[in-house]
Amino acid sequence: MKKIEMQNPIVEMDGDEMTRIIWKMIKDELLLPFVDLKTEYYDLGLEERDRTDDQVTIAAGNAIKKYGVGVKCATITPNEKRLEEYNLKKIWKSPNGTIRAILDGTVFRAPILIDCIKPVVKTWKKPITIARHAYGDVYRGTEFRVPGKGKAELLFTGEDGSTFRETIYDFECPGVLQGTFNKDTSIVSFAHSCFQYALTTKLDLWFSAKDTISKKYDGTFKAIFENVFAEQYRMKFEEAGITYFYTLIDDAIARVIRSEGGFIWACKNYDGDVMSDMISTAFGSLAMMTSVLVSPDGNFEYEAAHGTVTRHYYRYLKGEETSTNPVATIFAWTGALAKRGELDQNSALSGFAKDMEKIIISMVEEGICTKDLAGLYEGVNPQSVSTIAFIQEIRKRITKQYSGV
Ligand code: NAD
Repeated sequence: MKKIEMQNPIVEMDGDEMTRIIWKMIKDELLLPFVDLKTEYYDLGLEERDRTDDQVTIAAGNAIKKYGVGVKCATITPNEKRLEEYNLKKIWKSPNGTIRAILDGTVFRAPILIDCIKPVVKTWKKPITIARHAYGDVYRGTEFRVPGKGKAELLFTGEDGSTFRETIYDFECPGVLQGTFNKDTSIVSFAHSCFQYALTTKLDLWFSAKDTISKKYDGTFKAIFENVFAEQYRMKFEEAGITYFYTLIDDAIARVIRSEGGFIWACKNYDGDVMSDMISTAFGSLAMMTSVLVSPDGNFEYEAAHGTVTRHYYRYLKGEETSTNPVATIFAWTGALAKRGELDQNSALSGFAKDMEKIIISMVEEGICTKDLAGLYEGVNPQSVSTIAFIQEIRKRITKQYSGV
């Protein structure tokens, strides 16, 4: 069987725990036998991040800027517990946060739909993609536990020495206080990423915030989106036959629940974090949610939306066979290969990626699945198998389809 060739590499970022084990299975069983795989490899496993003082993460982020396409395995975001478990030099930052800061991107998350796994919301027929602004707000907030009586003020001192000062609250008892921020440059990038992604996928774009309550903060998001759209995208949207509209988040939620799906819902950072979990759960499983970071200058980083599946990893270490779902991780690879193929005009590569996705969807539709999905079927009697058996079944089907290549 002649392997499919690649002109340019993909940036490959290895990760941690169960997903690291699955990563190798995917490469060995589903990619290397069929594709003359070209990757620039970065090991973002926690030990290597610690050994390199996290420089490996920065190098990987810069490599995505160079090559345009990356694929990332789930990684541990260290905390106190991991500091001890891995005997780390320090609590390193989240690799996803570091890469996002380098690429300045927006994260798009979409569920993989399976016919016989019905969404909890009966009207949903097409995927709903969440576009999450992955910068600032409460994730970069400054917090204070107010100990008792006192005045809280908002103070800004300009570079020229001018000041803005306003009372937030005159506390008569203990309470809490939080300062959050965002930047016009980041919001403009967020808007461009959303409009460009809508054009690429030919999907309508909704954006929601709460500008009736947060007139300046959320009002700025709304105004920037409107300006960017009017100046650069209105015509292109008309030509593509798609629409953009802004609505209050309360109204958006009501419309989303009553919709058929099939659009992009752009959300501020916190809203996107929460709503993407709601959407993935309502569509079926976190393990069936894809995620792609799109930067405004056209770089793409693909990954699964889930984490390293620690619980399964500890079982794996004890020698037990696991039934961890590899679908979203495989789709991260197929997403990256399809994008590489598209950028390099390599239709054999894009075609292979799309064929693999179709094979997986039809397999799961027949009822061959991992344990997490088994309880969600309607009208089909599922047969849940181990991770490796699931992957080998995909390999068998690809081999059959590509035996003439
Ligand atoms: P997780 O996504 O690994 O697991 C959450 C729950 O979903 C668990 O019950 C798990 O069993 C289940 N689950 C997730 N993926 C599954 C799959 N493929 N098959 C079957 N079941 C699946 O998240 P967590 O437990 O909160 O975090 C574990 C580790 O992952 C943490 O160290 C965290 O820092 C890291 N994490 C990484 C990323 C990332 O790299 N993008 C995202 C989230 C969490």
